[in-house]
Amino acid sequence: MSTIAENIAKVGERIREAAQASQRDYAAIGLLAVSKTKPAAAVRQAHAAGLTDFGENYLQEALDKQAELSDLPLSWHFIGPIQSNKTRPIAEHFAWVHSVDRLKVAERLSAQRPAQLPPLNICLQVNVSGEASKSGCTPQQLPALAQAVSQLPNLKLRGLMTIPQPTDDLATQHAAFARLRQLQDSLNLDLDTLSMGMSHDLEAAIAEGATWVRIGTALFGARDYAQP
Ligand SMILES: *Cc1c(COP(=O)(O)O)cnc(C)c1O
Repeated sequence: MSTIAENIAKVGERIREAAQASQRDYAAIGLLAVSKTKPAAAVRQAHAAGLTDFGENYLQEALDKQAELSDLPLSWHFIGPIQSNKTRPIAEHFAWVHSVDRLKVAERLSAQRPAQLPPLNICLQVNVSGEASKSGCTPQQLPALAQAVSQLPNLKLRGLMTIPQPTDDLATQHAAFARLRQLQDSLNLDLDTLSMGMSHDLEAAIAEGATWVRIGTALFGARDYAQP
């Protein structure tokens, strides 16, 4: 077994245990493999070990990897900050975008989504920890943004995403994820997705209702940003 296949088995076990602990259906929790900074060969190994959904943060890196892996039936998710002048390739080359936090970006993605493709699946990124530096709309901005995005023709608003301030404190982890779930419930839209939980906090996220956990380090090892 490759290291990546072993890691996938371990993460799968963590997801299974967390689902069981909160009496949730394991099958309702998707494992999104975050492959940013990792080579196409790592994605190929992860696919050989059973994964189909991959998350990328950097557009050019993602497009290069997609081209190298075009022989595989993969589903690509864009999860990084979006510059509004880079929306067209995102609309053309991804199945999901988890990081929409303003209407202008959503409008451009809808206008630029190719007609022959299914609607682009969208999560709105919400800043639940209130740090000035993090992307994401505020909880106050969310209702109007969600209402507007739900009306755009070539998008399918699926739910919410958050990246809380990293902490080892379990109660703080739970509080942030519970907040996202409560915000989702309060929208009264037909939403089925909560994208929350990373390598260090997936258990808390699953306990609070995550349907995608976005896992990089625990699958592929630590990232080395010095490498090109
Ligand atoms: C990098 C990244 C992840 C994965 O984080 P790990 O801690 O490596 O699991 C998840 N979500 C987003 C948005 C990321 O940028």
